[in-house]
Amino acid sequence: MKNLYPHIKKQDKKVFAAIEGEEKRQAEGLELIPSENYVSQAVREANASALTNKYSEGYPGKRYYGGQEFTDEVEMIAIERAKKLFGAKYANVQPHAGAPANVGMYFALLEPGDTVLGMDLSHGGHLTHGHPVTYLTKIFRFVRYKMKDVETGEIDYDEMRKVAKKERPKIVLAGYSAYPRELDYDKFVSIAREVGAYAVMDIAHIAGLIAGKAVRNPFDHGFDIMTTTTHKTLRGPRGGMILTREDADFAKKIDKSIFPGLQGGPLMHNIAAKAVCFGEALSPKFRVYAKQVLKNAKAMEKVFATNNVRMLTGGTSNHLILADVWGSMGISGKEAETLLDEVGMTLNKNSIADDVRGPMDPSGIRFGTPAITTRGFKAKESTKVAELMIEALKNKSNKKVHKRIREDVRKLCKRFPIPESFV
Ligand SMILES: *Cc1c(COP(=O)(O)O)cnc(C)c1O
Repeated sequence: MKNLYPHIKKQDKKVFAAIEGEEKRQAEGLELIPSENYVSQAVREANASALTNKYSEGYPGKRYYGGQEFTDEVEMIAIERAKKLFGAKYANVQPHAGAPANVGMYFALLEPGDTVLGMDLSHGGHLTHGHPVTYLTKIFRFVRYKMKDVETGEIDYDEMRKVAKKERPKIVLAGYSAYPRELDYDKFVSIAREVGAYAVMDIAHIAGLIAGKAVRNPFDHGFDIMTTTTHKTLRGPRGGMILTREDADFAKKIDKSIFPGLQGGPLMHNIAAKAVCFGEALSPKFRVYAKQVLKNAKAMEKVFATNNVRMLTGGTSNHLILADVWGSMGISGKEAETLLDEVGMTLNKNSIADDVRGPMDPSGIRFGTPAITTRGFKAKESTKVAELMIEALKNKSNKKVHKRIREDVRKLCKRFPIPESFV
């Protein structure tokens, strides 16, 4: 392997060994966790840059410390590119991750005790959409909508409207971490308008697909606000962001909410890496990437369908698939996760809608194509990956088969090394 970390290697053997181990794990295994990806060396360089040394509390042109010539420049580049990428009038690029972006958004728009209408967590919503283990639920009220039909994935919009009229939410929240379909954005917006709520979409998982124009942009359907991560399909550094369709009053409230309301100094090295990532995402090549992510997911869907493995909502229209391995193959989600990890394919166990098993060892697995597509996989290789998954699961006690699959995975990885650049 290349000598990427000469100073750590010399100075800190223990941390070096862990980093080197992770580099090797990523190089030699297939990453199927749908929220993960590989960033370019350019993004990594920005993330490791001298900007990490700088305090920049405030916003460009309005900082609390001196010496902001270059940090202002970098943050303005990130903001301009983000606006262009998503057709937004305003962007806040300071949230440290997706969760603080959501927390900042809630506090900008709500008073304590106010209500949010979000997707039921067992039907694909995220922790920050009101899971009882989060502090958010001590401050705000969360009410739920669900799928009407788990086999098609259609949301129960009639029920959603009823709940909205009864509960009077201030935010109608769309967005998900484990839902393989597109939403009917017009219906969300019309329900939000009917009850005088903000229409907010958390695009954390599909930001790259929206930026790459492989799926629709919620702003084109009237959503007021989008929150996101930058490290999932968007293929940037770990981080968060908030965008608004119009440069409205609440845009200014969002700035105040993120700083000083929630965070201290922004991570300027991370914002520089976001700027580099947005630059990459604006290139025509990124559109090709985003479309290929969907094609590859369809190729995997086909293999699972052929093998009669039940997929939630019947398949996928985005980058991820939820498979009911317990119902179809008698293997629990946890067992499947461990088994596939051993043969070099990383994914996660996941609860499925109306799961008959508990959350620690649920019925499903969740996997997706953003990272393998970054490696250069097309439909052919994605089909192969799905076939290897099925073969490993069907031969769960056969060590010989597993050994061969591990070798096949290693070979695929060698043929498609993690790229250093996407432009
Ligand atoms: C991943 C995710 C988040 C949280 O992002 P972090 O960077 O892990 O804090 C928020 N919302 C949704 C829908 C997500 O998928």
